[in-house]
Amino acid sequence: MEKSNGLRVIMFPLPIQGCVNPMFQLAKILHSRGFSITVIHTRFNAPKTSNHSLFTFLEIPDGLSEKDKSTHDVTLLLTLLNRSCEAPFRECLTKLLQEKQRISCLIDDAGWIFTQPVAQSLNLPRLVTNTYKVSFFVGHFVLPPLRRDRYLLQQGSEQDEPAEEFPPLRKKDLLQILEGETEVLDSYSDMILQTTKASSGLIFVSSCEELDQDSLSQARKDFQLPIFAIGPSHSYFPGSSSSLFTPDQTCIQWLDKQEDNSVIYVSFGSVVNITESELLEVAWGLRNSEQPFLWVVRVGMVNGTKGVEAIPEELMERLEEKGKIVKWAPQQEVLKHRATGGFLTHNGWNSTVESVCEGVPMICVPSVWDQLLNARFVSDVWMVGLHLEGRIERDEIERVVRRLLLEPEGEVIRERMKLLKEKVGRSVKENGSANRSLQDLVDYISSF
Ligand code: UDP
Repeated sequence: MEKSNGLRVIMFPLPIQGCVNPMFQLAKILHSRGFSITVIHTRFNAPKTSNHSLFTFLEIPDGLSEKDKSTHDVTLLLTLLNRSCEAPFRECLTKLLQEKQRISCLIDDAGWIFTQPVAQSLNLPRLVTNTYKVSFFVGHFVLPPLRRDRYLLQQGSEQDEPAEEFPPLRKKDLLQILEGETEVLDSYSDMILQTTKASSGLIFVSSCEELDQDSLSQARKDFQLPIFAIGPSHSYFPGSSSSLFTPDQTCIQWLDKQEDNSVIYVSFGSVVNITESELLEVAWGLRNSEQPFLWVVRVGMVNGTKGVEAIPEELMERLEEKGKIVKWAPQQEVLKHRATGGFLTHNGWNSTVESVCEGVPMICVPSVWDQLLNARFVSDVWMVGLHLEGRIERDEIERVVRRLLLEPEGEVIRERMKLLKEKVGRSVKENGSANRSLQDLVDYISSF
């Protein structure tokens, strides 16, 4: 580790799993380059401070009721947080700036839309982090006007055709994204756009030239800001995650007993929910594939009251013959394990990048928002996975698992994934594009 450079960076993660992990990775990177780190965080989904003894933590109240905290509507949750955190955040930041220490800048997620005016009023530069794929972040600002023309997209039967408005989505993907779009989301996106443009720079914490070359040039044109793409941030400190849930480490001993590339790992991330009937279809599909599987069924992931108990006892016994079900997995370790041969994923961007970094081919089951675009890159552009095309049905799942793990087609996909892994791996090594971008970021922050 480099010695302290006397500069402090204030970080303010958005309290959802997909944003917390990359923000803490960035904090660790900056700390290793000599910066002191203060993390301001909400009470809701507070990070486990004991896991990060090198940082200073300051908690602010977030005003969320128990009902707010249990909502599955992410836009609503973010809107409420943005509304109630502004005053306590301003107070906290003002106090920090009065202390005798050199504070270089604020780094927080694009999803915090009140922090730009607050930082500006206190003369503090703000850098914005983003956890989407660059092409989704740049492209998704076209969605609000498209929503008004949704009926045009619905015409014609060729829903599998490319959506020219937002490549490489297909028309049916675009429709699915627009179905979930609301006016609240539109105005939230607009605020993200405005406040990001007013910031001092944009950091893509999980992207690099190798995954996003064209959209990075587009982003530089659109935003006219210094833009940094520091690569898969977890690869700078492998094996360290900032999980909000407790990972079940028995997964690893279980994987140790399985053959190389034989296990299908199944996870839908930290937010997506499924119905009881989808749960049963996945269960039957995995069992009938006769392949070993490791399946994450989060508490609260299944709509309805029963959760994993919706699986009848007899089926559960049969599942246990072949697989293991856990509430939360140490995902990066699981993907790194020699036994993991495929990842049936919802294609959150973190999960997608983690899979690429470990060379694990995917089966794509995107459900909402950027997941649909990430999945198209995996299946149609990089061709490192198979797409379930929304068919969460037992026969389809059985077939696709066997295609990926047992058939020659799966081997070809695995070879392609190996090449992509190597390309992305090189970018974080010395002189790689992501590594250079990180050095530029460090120099930039030091210059404030
Ligand atoms: N994750 C994990 N254990 C699990 C499931 C997910 O550690 O059992 C982590 C995963 O490694 C990733 C994050 O949770 O870093 C999920 O982020 P992603 O962007 O993939 O999806 P989101 O949860 O935001 O939909």
